[in-house]
Amino acid sequence: MTKSVVSIAKGTDIQEMVDRALAQLDGVDNLLKPGAVVFIKPNAGHPAPPETSVNTNPEVLKAVVAAVKRYKPKEIIMAEASAVGQDTLKALATAGLHQAAQEAGVDRVVDIKRLAKEDLVDVDVPDGVEIKKFRVPKMMVDADCVIGLPIFKTHLSMVFTGAVKAMKGVVDDRTHRKMHFVDLSEALFDLLAVSQPDISIVDMVRPMEGLGPMTLGKPVDFGCIVAGTDALAIDATCCRMTGIDVYDTYLTKGAKRGVGVIDEDQIEIRGNRIKEVYRKLDTPFLEGFSRYDGYCIYDENSCSSCMGVMMYVLEALKTQGKYDENKGISIVFGPKKDLPEEAARGKDLILVGKCVERFRDQGVFVGGCPPMAFGPVFAILKREDQEEEQAPVDAWKDAGAEDWLQAVEGKHKDKN
Ligand code: SF4
Repeated sequence: MTKSVVSIAKGTDIQEMVDRALAQLDGVDNLLKPGAVVFIKPNAGHPAPPETSVNTNPEVLKAVVAAVKRYKPKEIIMAEASAVGQDTLKALATAGLHQAAQEAGVDRVVDIKRLAKEDLVDVDVPDGVEIKKFRVPKMMVDADCVIGLPIFKTHLSMVFTGAVKAMKGVVDDRTHRKMHFVDLSEALFDLLAVSQPDISIVDMVRPMEGLGPMTLGKPVDFGCIVAGTDALAIDATCCRMTGIDVYDTYLTKGAKRGVGVIDEDQIEIRGNRIKEVYRKLDTPFLEGFSRYDGYCIYDENSCSSCMGVMMYVLEALKTQGKYDENKGISIVFGPKKDLPEEAARGKDLILVGKCVERFRDQGVFVGGCPPMAFGPVFAILKREDQEEEQAPVDAWKDAGAEDWLQAVEGKHKDKN
């Protein structure tokens, strides 16, 4: 049986780690031939600065570009489509990735969301479970080598995000949203089946633990680069390096479909051993909503975006000592035929997201699909409706809650 090779490089010099991680793989010379067009897909989902670890570390991007350049490629493209509703170019700039790309000599930086119709191509997924066709960048399909370059992070609704989930950033907002409305993990494997990078290089230099994947998560010094050609095997290895039970994650669905492998005896580790680099990452949300004592949460049928937002909100309330004083409320989200009978009504009923808008006259409503995290927080604290466009900034100022937000962010910074 041929095993999937996963290369681990631990150290302090990012360039040396990237070079070593690639050197430990087979066949890189065949993928990165002179004259090749290389398509690099980093993580730049949200406009957050490099020190937050929300996006790929720009120093890792520079090291990867330097390594690729040694093979004398014809062109290096860096492309991304940030999270739904986010501006990719702003995210790339804030993350320091745009500047890093320019300094490293990337030929083209591409916002996939801004590509013209003729620059996109439909790709069928014959065995697709949730999605049978994706529209992806033509330049990615035509590239000689696609490199996935994600950062590894704990994730409120998905447990973790790494090589598999990062490829969600090659589709437009419409498809991205659609993926969240079906079984996201199956949709991820539908996409991976047609967009598996030739090489995935996972940034584990300062991965995120805790309340990821956004700024309430905490970067930790891990000092590793992990690389390979099988995104599932890479993610499974990263899980084993961080104490996440592989068989308790969405990876099992991909392995069952044969998109990659996750069993230890199917993976050959090269370079550093897992036990040499092991460090448990904090994953406080693995218990699901049952840990939120005193709150009645009705999340049936909801997609992972609303689940993630609400876990973030509840954890943020705890962090700020606002959790206990709001016990007794009901929070309802996700598509529902009827409101749960036993849920509260009136000011103690928080209805979150477009799916439950039609019940808005029976409680406090928060707009958005998915809503911004500050909308539900404000609705819980003030018991007033939050329209989608109002939530992020104005309402906070009116409520005097800006201080609260700053306190959350301040606390986050202190933790680091
Ligand atoms: S409102 Fe929430 S649960 Fe409904 S589709 Fe939007 S993100 Fe999903």
